[in-house]
Amino acid sequence: MFRNYKDIEQKIKETYKMSRKYQNIEFYDLMLSQYNTREKKKMNIWDAFDLLNNFIDNSDPDMELPNIYHLFQSAEAARKDNAEDWFQLTCLLHDLGKIMYIFGNDDTGTSVKQQWAIVGDTFILGCQIPDTIVFPEYNILNKDHQKYDNYGIYSRHCGLEKCKISWGHDEFLYRTLKNNENTLPPQAYYIIRYHSLYLWHSKNEYSHFENIYDTIMKPTVQRFNNYDLYSKENTKNKNIHELKEYYQKIFSKYFKNNDLYF
Ligand code: FE
Ligand code: FE
Repeated sequence: MFRNYKDIEQKIKETYKMSRKYQNIEFYDLMLSQYNTREKKKMNIWDAFDLLNNFIDNSDPDMELPNIYHLFQSAEAARKDNAEDWFQLTCLLHDLGKIMYIFGNDDTGTSVKQQWAIVGDTFILGCQIPDTIVFPEYNILNKDHQKYDNYGIYSRHCGLEKCKISWGHDEFLYRTLKNNENTLPPQAYYIIRYHSLYLWHSKNEYSHFENIYDTIMKPTVQRFNNYDLYSKENTKNKNIHELKEYYQKIFSKYFKNNDLYF
């Protein structure tokens, strides 16, 4: 048991180390251009969810189950609190971007084996990395951190939208949803895009990049974070079929059909 836990911990540290070492502006630009030029794959939404049966998050010390359970647990916690339907749906979808492993490879940290450009807390590239980040001892490995000051390539209050954030499941799903017609509110997009930016929503960093829109949206991301973090249980939901039926109704309200282009 003890040894087992140590193994997990080593995996977490390694994932963070690699992310700190290889995530920089050049890497981001490469990943974005690969994403933009790749022919998008048409997939049924529930088939996409099922792909998370094969994905256990290497950066998460609290979740040993495949990620599909985390998404249902998070959504069910919001449902229990009578959250708005779009919010429940956002909880259900928020980590679906981790299916990006099907397009990925070990070299770019986008596979089941190498997850450093899929999972983990994100940080803003092209500037200093705050030392309130997890494992700050790895910051010196980062090329942008060595090269730039606090503002780096950005200007004061430029807005998070202008910032290049370490590549991962947040940005992937944000872009995916933007490419698929739907009526999700802006808050849903905002949660999905920035939920791993703990430095910003939980550590009070990056306020010099915040614009008014970011300031207004921050409490919504913080509200969501409760359902992301405190809903985690290492037991599998038994009624996945029923849950799919319930969430299908909400999904259909916001999306025209069940096939999305990923
Ligand atoms: Fe996430
Ligand atoms: Fe999550």
